[in-house]
Amino acid sequence: MAMRFSIYMLLVLSVYFISNCPVNLAHRNEDDPTIKTMEEFSGYPIHESHFLNSLSSLSVDAETLQKQIDELSSFSDSPAPSVTRILYSEKDVLSRRYIKNLMEASGLSVREDAIGNIFGRWTGSEPELAPVSTGSHTDAIPYSGKYDGVVGVLGAIEAINVLKRSSFKPKRSLDVIMFTSEEPTRFGIGCLGSRLLAGSKELAQQLEKTVDGQNVSFFYAAKSAGYMNVEKLSTVFLEKGSYSAFVELHIEQGPILEEEATSIGIVTAIAAPASIKVDFEGTGGHAGAVLMPKRNDAGLAAAELALAVEKHVLESGSIDTVGTVGILELHPGAINSIPSKSHLEIDTRDIDEERRNSVIDKIYESALSISKRRGVKLSEYKIVNQDPPALSDELIIKAAESASQELELTYKKMISRAYHDALFMARVSPMGMIFIPCYKGYSHKPEEFATIDHIADGVKVLALTLAKLSLS
Ligand SMILES: [Zn+2]
Repeated sequence: MAMRFSIYMLLVLSVYFISNCPVNLAHRNEDDPTIKTMEEFSGYPIHESHFLNSLSSLSVDAETLQKQIDELSSFSDSPAPSVTRILYSEKDVLSRRYIKNLMEASGLSVREDAIGNIFGRWTGSEPELAPVSTGSHTDAIPYSGKYDGVVGVLGAIEAINVLKRSSFKPKRSLDVIMFTSEEPTRFGIGCLGSRLLAGSKELAQQLEKTVDGQNVSFFYAAKSAGYMNVEKLSTVFLEKGSYSAFVELHIEQGPILEEEATSIGIVTAIAAPASIKVDFEGTGGHAGAVLMPKRNDAGLAAAELALAVEKHVLESGSIDTVGTVGILELHPGAINSIPSKSHLEIDTRDIDEERRNSVIDKIYESALSISKRRGVKLSEYKIVNQDPPALSDELIIKAAESASQELELTYKKMISRAYHDALFMARVSPMGMIFIPCYKGYSHKPEEFATIDHIADGVKVLALTLAKLSLS
């Protein structure tokens, strides 16, 4: 209730202020207690808000932005409309060059770290303050679409252009970041770039011996893409507090905003993901000759565990708990051979970490009891990652909320069930996310689509949110 009241007050105060007090704005008394109160409510200095009075000047060049999205999608290893852009491939290198060129064309100073996270900085009037950052990724899983991640990178560069065109002057510097490898496609590690930025020493150690499916090492692949200093992984780490805020613009990848005809989603929390690899080993044998009582079928053990995953997830009693067996492989994979080995990869997520962890424990107990009962060996049970959820920062939520209100866009607060680089940036910076609707919630497939109007709305909200955060 108190929360609702303060947001309401903020609204009333800022609407009153913006519509009735333009003169006072220009000639304000520095010690005016009303302004001080309003600054406390809003979290950003009111005296800088002459910019916020000219919201009509926030114009997105939608045509150019759409052209850039289309151009970037042509750097693909699969035919249009699908996009395939794998980490450190030739097409990934081309897309990186494209992004760097756009950043430079927007007057940003560009730097790349040892693994190829790209930063474009617009230096603020008080460069000693922690900057505000925004960004996303441009890598794309095989046969996916052209909006996932891309909207948050090209859209962020356009948000900077919008602010520049409106004569905004940032106080805190603004950084646009293109994160390396948000998708786990090549090396099996999702959000590789942002995890490392967040200072994951475990990941740095792991990367020293990580190879892809073709046995190409991470270091070799990075060097082939031009990152010769890739071995200096600790130089990538950011200190906590390096940024005063991080905001990621992204397509929703779910159907809610489109179904409810809402323009903007303001993310309040990102669900906690975990993934597990499991291997069972039985003795195999001829599908005709080995009688049923004599079998220890590794395939059936895997099938039973897959159903157990579903059961444990449903038992949690919360709609927020989800579990998926996305990979189930049988060896030798012949119709007339009893599977001697099976391999499962399990993904489970929740916004409640404890509840998610209890699902993981139950999956382990099931794997043990299945292996015992079926006489198969549980040869591997490996938790690949078990990340905590992240809560968005209240100040960033408020900034995005008032940006949406001032732009007269409908919005709703929501949870992100997919994870994003923002989940890991939350470890070094207050974090927030802005979602826009996408067609039927489709993502990670060629049908993925967002209208340019929705993208332009997202860019405007991002621009205004960055402006507010930069002045705070
Ligand atoms: Zn994404």
